[in-house]
Amino acid sequence: MISNVPVNEPDLSGNEKKYLNECIDTGWISSEGPFVGRFEKGMADLCRRRHGVAVCNGSVALDTALQALDLPKESEVIMPSFTIISCASAITRAGCTPVLVDSDAMTWNMDVSRIENKITSETKAIMAVHLYGLPVEMRSLMSIAAKYDLRVIEDAAEATGQECDGAPCGSFGDVSCFSFYPNKHVTTGEGGMVLCDDDALFKKCRSLRNLCFAPERRFVHRELGYNFRMSNIQAALGVAQLERIEATLRKKRYIGARYQELLSGIKGLQLPLPRTDYAENLYWIFGIVLDEDVPADAGEFEKRLQARGVGTRPFFWPMHEQPIFQEQGLFRGERYPVAEKLARRGFYIPSGLALTDEQMEYVAAQVRAVVEEVA
Ligand SMILES: *Cc1c(COP(=O)(O)O)cnc(C)c1O
Repeated sequence: MISNVPVNEPDLSGNEKKYLNECIDTGWISSEGPFVGRFEKGMADLCRRRHGVAVCNGSVALDTALQALDLPKESEVIMPSFTIISCASAITRAGCTPVLVDSDAMTWNMDVSRIENKITSETKAIMAVHLYGLPVEMRSLMSIAAKYDLRVIEDAAEATGQECDGAPCGSFGDVSCFSFYPNKHVTTGEGGMVLCDDDALFKKCRSLRNLCFAPERRFVHRELGYNFRMSNIQAALGVAQLERIEATLRKKRYIGARYQELLSGIKGLQLPLPRTDYAENLYWIFGIVLDEDVPADAGEFEKRLQARGVGTRPFFWPMHEQPIFQEQGLFRGERYPVAEKLARRGFYIPSGLALTDEQMEYVAAQVRAVVEEVA
């Protein structure tokens, strides 16, 4: 009898243990070990990029990317309101100003048709964040960027292995960022990566990652960097995970398709869009948005699911409603109704690689029961 389904469980059943043992047997545990370069090359190849710079998590991958781009101070960077804080904090820490756009109600991604309205003489970049399994519509976004000569940062943390119009997510922007947290398609426990093609940008990212040591004399610094290095132990996991990326994505698609079947008949639920004209949903997570006529918000619904042993997570909280940014006088009076609705009505159900058919059936039965319970 199933009575408890965690929201995520990673699958570490390939060469993970073997490669970790290699780290221990050889003594290579720091960032100087050989798995780091192998993992960087593997990710760059997957995304058809020339360069990869492994870092210690996805949030600092965004920091590294923004600092390396070296946009003029107070440049405006357009990004979705509905995303993780790391996107906005990377922009503000680089001395730039985040400028928000609302989401598309169906894809839950940045509504690209709203970008052009937000462009001013100060706009220097767009940050595209691929969310919850579907990519941002990159074709239009890239043509806007070209028209106004804007740089593009792609946050592909949730989209490792995803494609948009047949090209890999993470291959579009000037620079793209990834996370390898355990709920991502490839995990290293904690970890991240910056990918790019430009040699100068690559060198800048590598330098920022490693304290900006001057090349001619170690411990001499002309700029201040960070220790954002990834260890060989983390990269060992990454190399093993990348070997199995196709199976991972197959399982994600399977989970998504199965939940669609199991949940499709239930009234009051908006399920993820299975596809758009530019991409298939990879179901990084399986999100649910409660219709306005369901007499419970996401928090209440999640509480009831959790009481039935079903792990859930809330959707993101929009950037324009963050207390820290309001305190700083950012986004005053701005409203983004789609983002606000997603935050209040959206959550996700167990979506990890270890999910079994029986667990998915259990989860769907509990969702159905809670819909009836609150009606
Ligand atoms: C997970 C995630 C990040 C942050 O990655 P961490 O490794 O947790 O720091 C950034 N952006 C998006 C869209 C994410 O999903």
